[in-house]
Amino acid sequence: MIGPGKVIGVLGGGQLGRMFAQAAQAMGYIVHVFEPSGGSPAAAVADRETRARYDDLVVLGEFGRSVDVVTYEFENIPAEPLRILEGIVALHPSPSVLHICQNRWREKAWLRASGFPHAGYEEALEGDIQDAAAQLGLPCVVKTADFGYDGKGQMKIETPADLVQAAAIFRGRRCVVEQWVEFERELSVICARTASGETRAFPASENIHAHHVLDISIVPARIAPWTEARARDLAVRIAGELGVVGLLAVEMFLTPDGSLIVNELAPRPHNSGHWSIDGGQTSQFEQHVRAICGLPLGPSGARNPTVMVNILGDAWTWRDGEAVGEPDWSAILAEPTAKLHLYGKPEPRPGRKMGHFTVQGVDVEAALALARAIKARL
Ligand code: AMP
Repeated sequence: MIGPGKVIGVLGGGQLGRMFAQAAQAMGYIVHVFEPSGGSPAAAVADRETRARYDDLVVLGEFGRSVDVVTYEFENIPAEPLRILEGIVALHPSPSVLHICQNRWREKAWLRASGFPHAGYEEALEGDIQDAAAQLGLPCVVKTADFGYDGKGQMKIETPADLVQAAAIFRGRRCVVEQWVEFERELSVICARTASGETRAFPASENIHAHHVLDISIVPARIAPWTEARARDLAVRIAGELGVVGLLAVEMFLTPDGSLIVNELAPRPHNSGHWSIDGGQTSQFEQHVRAICGLPLGPSGARNPTVMVNILGDAWTWRDGEAVGEPDWSAILAEPTAKLHLYGKPEPRPGRKMGHFTVQGVDVEAALALARAIKARL
């Protein structure tokens, strides 16, 4: 067990690292952030910061020796630095888990080999996109195998003309071509697992995306109890099969016939779990601290029906490409059941995640209606 007072190292300085650091500090840990760029959201709250490139192996080694356990807050960390760190200090989730989850070829192949439900897919190099699409049928979606998130590096293919365009756009990239799933709802289940195998799943979150980016998460998801139970069971089985220590977020589609299809795995805190800071018995960030430090896990239920809304840079007033006015925060702050979270990013940009707010309600529809009204007033 790595007890309070010890030092937790975090690779990555984004908002997930920031909220993780805040949760760890609340429990008495010291947080040391490793991040290449300056002025990051996580470094602004961390006790210590190392600003260096991930391939600066000397500095990385010093960082590893100065902390008691290391975790990460984003997936696109090169493999080599992780292997070096793993030889120095406890690193959770393990590099082998990250290796699978950070690349769509490997992730899909792992899901297939392990017998978990996933959309039909073909691996493709640029020249194979047409063949792959012919096998799968239209519509389908092309996604880059590496470094994709929030819908970046993906394109829906509906017509043969889209295919020609995709072949040009994805030239030279390794891709996955995936069957388009006509889903009824998008869900995610985040679970925490300790080294001893204790596992707890948060309630399934119902996720609504806008332009491929998460817009709203709704807890509890508006699904049948047995669907919720199956979704949680699926996530717990995946976490166990992967042997994750820490958090695993499992994104899935619910189809009209009631099937659950896994879309993506993320071995870290997840945007769809931000509701848990205000609405959960234990937040996902605290649960991640507990899991990687070998502490008992906290209860993972929701205290109230909770809706989370992302605040993107688009919420600012823009004129000629410049942000000229910030959102009206009082729209959130004047509501007794709403909470504002901003990530301290120095400047807004369209599409950039600047913060989120949550609304708790006596029931989910009331919370959702209020959240949407606040969003419109922002
Ligand atoms: P991803 O980057 O894989 O998480 O995809 C981002 C979003 O695109 C998902 O949350 C879905 O809304 C949509 N999407 C991705 N893959 C598919 C698919 N095979 N079928 C339908 N929608 C998809």
